[in-house]
Amino acid sequence: REAQICIANQTARKSLNAFIGLAGGPTILRKAEAADTQRDGGPLHGRLIAVKDNICTSDLPTTSASGILKTFTSPYDATVVKKIHHAGGIVAGKTNLDEFGMGSHSKCSYFGPVTQSNAEGAEALSAGGSSGGSAVAVATGQCWAALGTDTGGSVRLPAAYTGIVGFKPSYGLVSRWGVLAYANSLDTVGILVQSTQHAKVVFEAINGYDEQDPTSLLPSTRARISESLSQRRRNSSLRIGVPLEYNIAELSPQVRRAWTSALEFLRNQGHMIVPVSLPSTKRALSAYYVLAPAEASSNLAKYDGVRYGTRAEGPDGAEGVLFSKTRGEGFGDEVKRRILLGAYTLSAEAIDNYFIQAQKVRRLVQQDFDRVFSLANPLLDGGRTGRQDTDQAVDVLVCPTAPTLPPTLESLEKQSPVEAYVSDVFTVPASLAGLPAVSVPFKASQRGEGEGQEGNIGIQVIAQYGDDNLALDVARMIE
Ligand code: GLN
Repeated sequence: REAQICIANQTARKSLNAFIGLAGGPTILRKAEAADTQRDGGPLHGRLIAVKDNICTSDLPTTSASGILKTFTSPYDATVVKKIHHAGGIVAGKTNLDEFGMGSHSKCSYFGPVTQSNAEGAEALSAGGSSGGSAVAVATGQCWAALGTDTGGSVRLPAAYTGIVGFKPSYGLVSRWGVLAYANSLDTVGILVQSTQHAKVVFEAINGYDEQDPTSLLPSTRARISESLSQRRRNSSLRIGVPLEYNIAELSPQVRRAWTSALEFLRNQGHMIVPVSLPSTKRALSAYYVLAPAEASSNLAKYDGVRYGTRAEGPDGAEGVLFSKTRGEGFGDEVKRRILLGAYTLSAEAIDNYFIQAQKVRRLVQQDFDRVFSLANPLLDGGRTGRQDTDQAVDVLVCPTAPTLPPTLESLEKQSPVEAYVSDVFTVPASLAGLPAVSVPFKASQRGEGEGQEGNIGIQVIAQYGDDNLALDVARMIE
C-alpha cells in the first residue's frame, strides 16, 4: 500500500522533475508484493528508496544529469545500492541533480531543473542542490527515503530547503564504490528522510567497510572508534557549541531567529550553550571552491567519448578534435567553469598560490574543530589535539544549514556564480573536515512561536569524526 501511494505521487508530481529515471509502477509493485510474502525481509523491507543519479545502478541508466552520460548504464550496482537491496529496500528510481553534483539549486541539469511544490500561483522555489531530486522525492512522498551525495552540502542544503532531514555521515564510513566522483576527498553518500529515526535505519543499512573503496574506514579503526565512544561518560546534559563566526552579515533575520529559538529550546531542555570560535571558517568557502574544482578537473578527464560517454558526431580527427568536441557538447556551463578553474589552480603557475594554500586552510579548518570538541579526533595519533579541559569543550555544534530561506528560481537567474556559492558557507566546513552533520527542519509553529515562518529553515548539528549517532540524537531533540 505504501508503494502504491508513492507511485501515485510519482505520477501526480511529475512536473517537479525529481526523477530522471523511474523503476516504473508495475516493477515496483511486483517487488513490493514479493517483499510482502517474505517474513523477515530486513530493516528496509519493502521500502521505496530513491537513488541520486550519480550512483550506479545496473538496471537503470546513471547519467549524473550530464549530456555526456545521457546514454550510460553501469554494468554493476554501487555498494550502497547492493546494501539497499540486501536490507530489503526497493530502488524507486534515479533522482535529478546538478550535473555531476556541481551546484546548490538542482537547476544545472541536462534534464531541466528540479522545483519544489509551492502554494498555487506562488513563484517556484529552489529545491536546493545538488541532491534536489532526492529531497523533493522524499518531501512529496514519492519514496520513503533517498540517497544523495554531499561534497560540500548537497544533502544538507536541499533537506533544509524542502523541510526534511538530511544526514551526511563521517567521510569514509559509507562506501563510495560505484559513486561517480566529483571531488573524491570530500564526496560522501548521504541520506534524505522524513525523520531522524528513519535516517538511523538507512544509515545502519549502508554503513560498513568496503574493500573496493580505498578510502573506506578499516574495520580496525571502526572498532577503535566504537571502543572510545563506549568509554565516554555521557552526561544527560550536553554542551552545545555555538560557532560565533557563523553569525554573518548575510544571515537572514528569520534564519537567525530560528537558530536562537533552537538554542533556547535546547537550553530549556537542560543542555548548556557554549559560544565557541572557529576562526578559519571565513576562509573555508574559498578553500572549498579551489579544492573541489581541482579534484573535479582530474576526475572528469575520463569523460572523453572513448572510455566513457556519448561521443560527438564527426570524424576521429587529429589533435584531440574529437575529445574537445565531445566534451564541449557533453558538459554544461557550470561543469566547464569548474574544469577550467581546477585545471588553472593545479597548473605550475598557480598551484602554490591556490591549491597548496587551500590545502593549508583545509588543515586549519580541521584543527578548529578538533580544538572545540571534547572527543578527540580518532583519526589522529593518540587523539593528541582533542580538547580535554571540559570547561570549554563541546559535544556538538549547532548552527543554521543555510544563510537564507529557499530563494525563488527566478531570483537565481540574476545571481553570479560567486554569489551562488555563498549558500554553501555553513555546510562546507564540516565537509572539509570530514565530519558528520545533520540538517533538521525547524518548525516555528510547532514550538508555539507567534511569528509565522515563511519557508523552510534547516538547523545543522555537527559532531566530531565518528560521533554520527550523537549528531542524529541531538537533531532528534530539535526535530
Ligand atoms: N554546492 C556545492 C558545489 O557546487 C556542493 C555540491 C555538493 O555537495 N555536491 O560544489
